[in-house]
Amino acid sequence: MVTPRIDLHAHSSVSDGTEPPATLVTDAAAAGLTTVAITDHDTLDGWDEAFSVAEKAGIDVVPGMEMSCELDGVSVHLLVYWPDPRSTELLDELARIRQGRDGRLPTMLRQLDEVGVHLTEEQIADSAGTAVSLGRPHIADAMIKAGYVADRQEAFDRYLVEGRPGYVARYSTELPDAITLARRVGGVPVIAHPWGRLSRPVLTPEVLARCASDLGLAGVEARHQDHPAEAISELTGLAGELGLLVTGGSDWHGSGKVDHDLGVHTTDPEVLERLAAQARTSGD
Ligand code: AMP
Ligand code: FE
Ligand code: FE
Ligand code: ZN
Repeated sequence: MVTPRIDLHAHSSVSDGTEPPATLVTDAAAAGLTTVAITDHDTLDGWDEAFSVAEKAGIDVVPGMEMSCELDGVSVHLLVYWPDPRSTELLDELARIRQGRDGRLPTMLRQLDEVGVHLTEEQIADSAGTAVSLGRPHIADAMIKAGYVADRQEAFDRYLVEGRPGYVARYSTELPDAITLARRVGGVPVIAHPWGRLSRPVLTPEVLARCASDLGLAGVEARHQDHPAEAISELTGLAGELGLLVTGGSDWHGSGKVDHDLGVHTTDPEVLERLAAQARTSGD
């Protein structure tokens, strides 16, 4: 019997990963995974291509997304597995988020121009390629190509994180609304990297408890590279108390993110089974 190895967080070039969905799936199989979730930012557009190669690659694909949310003005990412891809309510909300992504571009370019980084919308479109969800990593790629920075990380640190000159806020769904929307459309919501980067102060134990008991949150992605070991164990303990499932994922972006190799964090098979069981009853 093959030992299950399940990675529930990966991005393709449909959002800000560097590889197409088909490559995501074949690379995941080559990395020894038995299940991989495709979780592009704010779009479901990579699903069909991922499914089309899954059987031949000998790997299960979980259809998902990573939705841009906010809580108290702080960015929070929500992984949603198996949402109904025909729900107009969902598709409209995702389109609204992507419009916010596109709409901030002129302001970003103007602000970058003022600090000596001269990029055109054409250069950004060129680095975004076929992506339907335009993200800061694409701006970073254009900066790399034009010789302003060496890699995406340098672009973020110098220009793109909040507080730096290229940062412009954009529309995101309020987290409680996103969790309830996910459930209404048959999906299973799991908060991505809850205690990574900036979101730990707003995702307090009390808030997580309320998300679990009142809103239908299914789990937390405790095992993630943005979490130090203590955060993983503390969050795992808290999830146990709150009845939340604990997942793990790589947050793979192809060559776009270092130290996020496929399978670097994984989800237990029993947890995947419980998530799948919730998907079968979610939205009923
Ligand atoms: P956006 O989708 O435009 O808000 O950009 C967010 C994406 O950029 C995340 O999903 C990561 O892929 C990447 N990212 C966010 N913050 C950082 C950071 N501080 N350093 C490197 N990459 C980051
Ligand atoms: Fe990303
Ligand atoms: Fe994320
Ligand atoms: Zn991600």
